[in-house]
Amino acid sequence: MLEPRGNGMALHTAPWFSALQICKRLSIAKSLKLPNAPNLDYHTIDNIAATWSSTFQEAEHGIIIDQLRDVHGFHAMNLQVLGCAGGIGGRERLTTCLLLDDDILLDAGTGLASLDMEQLVKIEHVFLSHSHLDHIAGLALLADAILGKKVGPVTIHATDKVMATLKSHFFNWLIWPDFATIPSAGNSVLRWETVQHGVAIDLGGRSIVANPVNHSVDATSYLVRERGAAFLFTGDMSTTPALWEKMKSETTLAKVIVDCSFTDADSELAAVSGHYCPRTLQDDIQFMPKSTEFLIYHLKPGQEEIIMQELKSNAKGRSFEALRCGDRFVF
Ligand SMILES: [Zn+2]
Ligand SMILES: [Zn+2]
Repeated sequence: MLEPRGNGMALHTAPWFSALQICKRLSIAKSLKLPNAPNLDYHTIDNIAATWSSTFQEAEHGIIIDQLRDVHGFHAMNLQVLGCAGGIGGRERLTTCLLLDDDILLDAGTGLASLDMEQLVKIEHVFLSHSHLDHIAGLALLADAILGKKVGPVTIHATDKVMATLKSHFFNWLIWPDFATIPSAGNSVLRWETVQHGVAIDLGGRSIVANPVNHSVDATSYLVRERGAAFLFTGDMSTTPALWEKMKSETTLAKVIVDCSFTDADSELAAVSGHYCPRTLQDDIQFMPKSTEFLIYHLKPGQEEIIMQELKSNAKGRSFEALRCGDRFVF
C-alpha cells in the first residue's frame, strides 16, 4: 500500500478521488461495472484500469495511468514496455527494453529506439541483464545520441563479467567507440557500475536487487521494489530453482516478466540456448503464489500463439499473459 510522501495527505483525499472519477466516467461510457467499494486505493484503481485496458483506447488508459502517477504527494513506479520480442519479424518487432519511470532502463535492446531525444536525455541508469545483442544494441546508439546533449554520465549497471565482455567486444573502438572515455575519461557519456548479487541499489526510493539466473552466458534478474509494490524482470533465463526459492516469499511481488522463448516441441533447443519452454517454466514456478501474474516475454517470432496456448492450457489457476510492446504498468 502506498503512503503519503511528505505532505501527510490521506489516501482518500482529492487526487485519488479524481482518478476514481475518471474510472467512473470511462466505466459509464464503456458500460463497465465499477466495484462498489467506498475506499478504493491506488492499486485497486490501477487493477481496474488494467482489467479494462483491452476495452480502452490507448489514450484513455494513458490518462488513468498518468492521473494515478501524478497524484500529488505520492509516487508509484511506472513501467513502460519499449521492446519485448525474442527476435525480429514476428508479432512484436522490437527487442528487450523496459523504461521505469523516465530515468531507468532495464536492458537496452532495439526498443530503446522508440524514445525521442527529450526522453533519451532523461535516462540516468541502465541495468543490463546480460551481454547478448538483443539486450544491448540500443546502448551504443543511446551513447552516441546524447553526446553533448546531457549533463553527466549515464550509469550502466552490470556484473563484472558482462562489463568485461562489453568492454572487450563491443565498446572496443572497432564495433563502437568506448563512450566511457568520450569526450574525456573525467567527463564521459557512460560510466560503469558493478552489480553485486543480493545487494539492493536504492535510486530515489526504488530498490533494485540483482539475482543470478541460468542462461548461456552470465545473466541476472532484477527485482524492483518501491514501498509496498514489486515486480521481477528475469532477463533471458532457463531453469533456476534458487531464484524462485527467494521469490516465493516476496509477498508484494505483483508481476513477473519472464522469458519463455520456445515451444515444448523445441525443449531441447530451449535447454541448449538457456531459455525456458512452457514445461520447464511451469516446473520452476510451481511453488510461487497463484496471485503473482506472469507476463511472458522473449517469445520467438512466429511461435507466440503456440507458446501462450501451451502455457494457458496447463495454467493450473495461474495467470499467464504475453507482454506486448507499449504495455504500461503502475506499481
Ligand atoms: Zn540471451
Ligand atoms: Zn535475448
